[in-house]
Amino acid sequence: MKREIISLASLLCAVAGVSAQEAATAEGDSMRMDTVREAADSLKRDTSDVVVIRRVPLESGRTIDDEVIVVDTIPSSNEGVNIVLFNDNTWRYVRNRSISADDDTVFTSDWDTIKLQAYGIELKDMPVSVVIDLVDSLKSYHYPHVGKINSKYGVRRRRSHQGTDIDLEVGDPVYAVFDGRVRISQYQNGGYGNLVIIRHDNGLETYYGHLSERLVKPNEWVTAGQVIGYGGSTGRSTGPHLHFETRYKGQSFDPERLIDFTTGTLRRETFLLKKSYFSIYSKFTQDFDEEIKSEEEDRKIAAQAAAVQYHIVKKGDTMGRIAINYHTTVSRLCQLNGLKNPDRLSIGQRIRVR
Ligand SMILES: [Zn+2]
Repeated sequence: MKREIISLASLLCAVAGVSAQEAATAEGDSMRMDTVREAADSLKRDTSDVVVIRRVPLESGRTIDDEVIVVDTIPSSNEGVNIVLFNDNTWRYVRNRSISADDDTVFTSDWDTIKLQAYGIELKDMPVSVVIDLVDSLKSYHYPHVGKINSKYGVRRRRSHQGTDIDLEVGDPVYAVFDGRVRISQYQNGGYGNLVIIRHDNGLETYYGHLSERLVKPNEWVTAGQVIGYGGSTGRSTGPHLHFETRYKGQSFDPERLIDFTTGTLRRETFLLKKSYFSIYSKFTQDFDEEIKSEEEDRKIAAQAAAVQYHIVKKGDTMGRIAINYHTTVSRLCQLNGLKNPDRLSIGQRIRVR
């Protein structure tokens, strides 16, 4: 057990940017939980800027089951976030829902546990593009079900098919894809049959239709990999399959943009969701070239996020000099820091330069 904590601590130190030497010293000393806490706390300082920390993700497709046991839960300095240690040396952040739920508008505004369409936003008013963090320090991922695709997103016999149909056997487990909260769990006569809709921290909603059995209730918090129901053929269905939808603010887009259902893997960690994707004619397989481009964009965004850098203002510093030193411009610095008057710098002020 001690060994596990030590390796976790050095991992936390490495992630938190603590030098290798400090980490080594910490390992040499008798390791106490406090040190782990400190390392954990340093991770969460300056939460507004912490976008670069990525936890070691759970293996795609790993189910949260009896084999993995929670060893300990450690608070971090951000009371809305705890760190959970597992017995297989992995760890992850878990939201302290009792605290973070109150100010998390994702789960309070446009929240309806009866009506399927909770949002009143029309397609024309949707943003041109939005960056969705699929897997970051807090969120993990699990496939909903792995299987052959029976029917893709798109127009099918003159009807809009707003999801992907994945082949399964009645009774196969169906998993929550990301962490989140169940918004809908109800029987939809003639359509979805037994339907579960989960809203996730990243703002996406996922729909799971035709289930034979639902295991979750509205307002319940779920974790990625949790079994939320069993596969079936209820509602308007010609045979057992999972009807799986991905939506943002009520608008559907091709789930294959996110998940390769034949392997169960997530295609990317950061997803640039474009308004054009909300068209029923916009399919993942048709836009392969565009996908490659968007992958490049995704990588650029991730690299930019990882490259965030600060300068602490010293005596004699001017905005112009800082700009030159960091190979940037004064107007870019003003933009990054939301400054109106670049002449007013104070010693010790932290300026974002990248
Ligand atoms: Zn379907």
